[in-house]
Amino acid sequence: MTVLTRIGVLAVQGDFAEHMAVLRRLQVDCCEVRLPHQLDGLAGLIIPGGESTTIARLMDVYDIREPLKRKVRGGMAAWGTCAGMIMLASKLAEDRPEPLGLMDIVVHRNAYGRQVDSFEADIPIAAAGEKPFHCIFIRAPKIERAGPKVEVLAKLPGNGIIAARQGNLLATSFHPELTTDTRFHQLFLRMAATGAS
Ligand code: GLN
Repeated sequence: MTVLTRIGVLAVQGDFAEHMAVLRRLQVDCCEVRLPHQLDGLAGLIIPGGESTTIARLMDVYDIREPLKRKVRGGMAAWGTCAGMIMLASKLAEDRPEPLGLMDIVVHRNAYGRQVDSFEADIPIAAAGEKPFHCIFIRAPKIERAGPKVEVLAKLPGNGIIAARQGNLLATSFHPELTTDTRFHQLFLRMAATGAS
């Protein structure tokens, strides 16, 4: 049996280069993904932060939406950061974009208001390890509701769920790829390895 270890990063828009840089630093076999056939043989796919309406539109232009959903349902791991998390949702509080409907979460875009478009906070996240994680929020979404199969990994004190996991799916409101802390990438690599074996 071939064990899949390759990780793809959806590279239609957003900060995919930063995710690629982290994966390369961790010496992971990785590639940029734009076209459906590039999903073949992946253990996991990262959907980066950016602008979810643009990412959704370009996914349709590249015809990758349905193949991606099939791969995830077939076991490929997926991790959405920020706009990527919006794409994984089953439902959004807003009308646009149309999410992929893979993870049982309801997500509210730009949930932390215009005046605090960006902020940073050190938050304890047990799944990543003992030391608090430095979370960078940029016009960040929050998970308003999580279904029974969703494991909540972190909350912003008093203000919503910011990290969650459901089977082979991982979602974070914030951007670990903009820090030098690779613990979330390593967590995702472990999830992808489990699904692929
Ligand atoms: N606000 C963006 C959106 O709605 C997400 C921002 C981000 O990915 N940093 O898509």
